Amino acid sequence: MSVKVQQISKLYGTQKALDNVSLTIKPGEIVGLLGPNGAGKSTLMKILSCFIPPSSGSATIMGFDVQDQSIEVRRLVGYLPESNPLYSEMYIREYLTFIAGIHQLGKKTAGKVDEMIHLTGLEPEIHKKIHMLSKGFKQRVGISQALIHDPQVLILDEPTSGLDPNQLVEIRNLIKSIGKDKTVILSTHIMQEVEALCNRVIIINKGVIVADDLTDKLSNSKITEAIVVEFEQTIESADLMKIPGVKRVIKESNSWVIEPEAGRDIRQSLTKWAVDRQLIIVALKKKTLSMEESFHKFTQKS
Ligand code: ADP
Ligand code: MG
Repeated sequence: MSVKVQQISKLYGTQKALDNVSLTIKPGEIVGLLGPNGAGKSTLMKILSCFIPPSSGSATIMGFDVQDQSIEVRRLVGYLPESNPLYSEMYIREYLTFIAGIHQLGKKTAGKVDEMIHLTGLEPEIHKKIHMLSKGFKQRVGISQALIHDPQVLILDEPTSGLDPNQLVEIRNLIKSIGKDKTVILSTHIMQEVEALCNRVIIINKGVIVADDLTDKLSNSKITEAIVVEFEQTIESADLMKIPGVKRVIKESNSWVIEPEAGRDIRQSLTKWAVDRQLIIVALKKKTLSMEESFHKFTQKS
């Protein structure tokens, strides 16, 4: 296993940012950690990159414990923090050389710095100091520093937030190409990002994992199917909730979107319910909830 998290909780004072989180990530996976602000994504990433200790539980990177073997873990992990802190007065090459020094790359330093500059496409801006760079190029510098020691596991905290649409595509492509031979964990609150980049998505909300599945499975799975129905008569949501197997109903203009309990097909019982009450169904269709809707579904409940 590349990453193994066992029952990690993290308390900030009395606030629980992570609540008994467990997960494993296999080598080569690109995992999207998806969740609203405050879900605990950054906290989990900071623990995995040895920036903060968990309050309880344990985590290993390629078998090394993040608390007891943090030097080994730091060698194996590349981390791009959410705020992407850089030394803005430094030139790109100067900064990357400094980071290479921290990783004690020795004679390999100059070669590695050049390799990163080339890999992340920094050449056109290489003569600039970091504070002169656009946000997209700053992200490239951030990704370069995370990659310079050739880590096996790359942890990227909201790597595309604040980028314009062109920069977004470029950084996504960069992450995709890096992901070909590394394990990547990235966080985001953008569903499309996960769909575009990740082969697995872990949805986290209020410090708890609420869904963990392959990206295409999560967007197509049965539980994300709903029924859209329109009646000639006016209906109350409380009445619809009485139909066996109904989990939730939402009014959408003239129609009702009915979410069944996982794995249930409620069309028959819905039709019977309507007939018994002499209600007329004017439209009935299945609806697959998009990744976005599914995300809302999983993170709305308190
Ligand atoms: P996310 O990255 O998903 O937005 P975070 O991991 O940053 O979430 O935060 C999870 C929760 O922990 C939030 O409620 C946040 O306010 C709280 N939190 C994060 N860092 C600290 C800290 N250093 N001190 C106190 N509370 C914190
Ligand atoms: Mg965060």
